[in-house]
Order: sequence, then structure tokens, then C-alpha cells
Amino acid sequence: MLQFIRRLIQIFVIALLIIIPILSLYEILIENFRLPMVQGRGWQQIFDFVDSAMRHFTEDPVKIVKNIKGNIFWTITIYDFTLSDPLILVGHIFGSRAFYISLLVSALPFIIITILFGRVFCGWICPMDLLLELNNKIRRLLYKIGLRPYNIIFSRSHKYALLFVGSILTFLLGVQLFAFIYPPAIINREAVHYIYYGSVGMGVVAIAAIMLIEVSLSERLWCRYFCPGGGLYSVLGTGRLVTIVRDKNLCDDCADCNKACEFAFNPMRDKFGMECNNCGKCISVCEKKGLSFKFSLPWRRTKT
Ligand code: SF4
Ligand code: SF4
Repeated sequence: MLQFIRRLIQIFVIALLIIIPILSLYEILIENFRLPMVQGRGWQQIFDFVDSAMRHFTEDPVKIVKNIKGNIFWTITIYDFTLSDPLILVGHIFGSRAFYISLLVSALPFIIITILFGRVFCGWICPMDLLLELNNKIRRLLYKIGLRPYNIIFSRSHKYALLFVGSILTFLLGVQLFAFIYPPAIINREAVHYIYYGSVGMGVVAIAAIMLIEVSLSERLWCRYFCPGGGLYSVLGTGRLVTIVRDKNLCDDCADCNKACEFAFNPMRDKFGMECNNCGKCISVCEKKGLSFKFSLPWRRTKT
């Protein structure tokens, strides 16, 4: 059930990445009286469907659609509520060398969730995680059929180094560099590009390259070792209140939890660390029900 809910949330986020640009384009087409001129049978059907669905609820769809906006920096605005990614916030602060309270407020929901639950953005929300988890199934299938892909191990500190160096360079150059290397922002940008212009850019090549490397050379390379977003979420979630605990009386050391963990932690020996994304896969595979989420204060728990 836990994994089903997690998948639903991930799929919902990916659906939003597709629906929001379609709605924006729909608004432009309506306002310019170009809806009947849409080229391509598939696109025609999509916009006809959007139009009839919208008109089912309102006589003035543009009025609603105008209030739902995304932008290529992976930010979403619904009416007066804006939601931003903390990494993009960091990029804006360093890139513009200015501090905008409104931007901080828009990133606060993710910051608070991370302080409470740790790196859950990665396990529950990030669209790249869903792609890479599916990709990892191919890798594990290769193992099952007897092929042995490499598994090159890097230091997990690379992601913090990338976060630090990226912030400094963003400050010096005044350019939002994270948007170029941060997968959720890349996927968002490519989706917008495809829907608006019918083509994709180098971002798709970069994502495909990461997937290929992960299948053949290093399991879950990007999220484990390099993603600056994963680094930022890990730092913010260091003292998270919700962690996973193991009941030693129920655990029979079968190591199923360790095998399930794509981030290569060691739940069987209580080694979750600050980078655990609380995805709950280890909990779900434990037949003895030996693992569970627990609310506890960081200073009252034994260090893992
Ligand atoms: S580490 Fe980066 S790419 Fe991976 S899930 Fe987290 S934010 Fe997404
Ligand atoms: S330890 Fe468990 S919850 Fe944490 S990343 Fe691994 S499988 Fe997910």
C-alpha cells in the first residue's frame, strides 16, 4: 500500500508536468482564436478533449487556466499559491545576489516537509526518481538473466561538492546554473519544449545518458553520488523527525531490506544515515514487519 501511494504521487507529479504546459498552450490558442487550427490529429484530439472537459465545469475556461502556471525553473503557481524547489531558491539567491521573501515563502512547504521527513522529495516527488527506479529494474533484470553490469562506487560527498561549487559559480556568473543540471528542472523544461515546439533538446540526451550509465556502469549513480538537489535535501533533512526503526526481535537478518534499498544503505544494521529518502521500500519488503516509520527527536535517538 505504501509503495502504491508513493507511485501515485510520483505519477501525479509527472502528469502535472505534462498537463500544465498543455493548459498554458490551450489558453494561448483560445485567446488568439487558433484552437480550430491546431495541426496534427493527436494534438487536435488532445485540445478538443481539454476544451470539452474545461467547458464541462465553466463557461470561461481561460479564466481558470490563467491562474494555473508553471515555469521552466520547475516552479508552479495556482492562483496566489506558488511552490518552488529549494534548490531553485538557492540558485535564485546566488544568481541574483538578492533575497526575495516571496521566493523563500514559495519554497517553505518543501523545506518544512524535508525538516520533518528528511529527503522525501527524492523518494516521493522527484520525477527523475521514478524514471531511474524503472531504469534500475532493467539493471536488476540483467543480473537475473546472468549479465553482470559494473557497479562503480563513488564518494557520496560529490553531491555536496557539486552543490557548493554550483552555488559559488552561480554567484560569480549570475546565471541559474542548477537549472541546467538538476533533473526535475530538465524534465520540466523538456516537457514544455516538446508540447510547445514539438521537439526536445539536449536535456533528453543528458537524461538518457544518465539512464544508460546507471544500467551498465553504476547503480543509481546520479541520486546516490552527484545530484546537488539530493545533497541539499540531505542537509536540510539531517535532523528529520520521522525515521525508520528496526525491531531487533522481529528481524531475522534475511537482508531483503538491504537488497531493496536502491540507495545502498544498510537497514538491516540500522544504517540509514542522513541521505535516506524515507521511500519505505525496505519497510514494504520486510515480511517479518521488522521495520517501521517512527517519530522521534534527533537528540533522543542513537546515532546511525
Ligand atoms: S537525488 Fe536529485 S534526481 Fe535523484 S531523486 Fe533526488 S532530486 Fe531527484
Ligand atoms: S533505507 Fe529504506 S527508506 Fe531509506 S532509502 Fe533505503 S529503502 Fe528507502
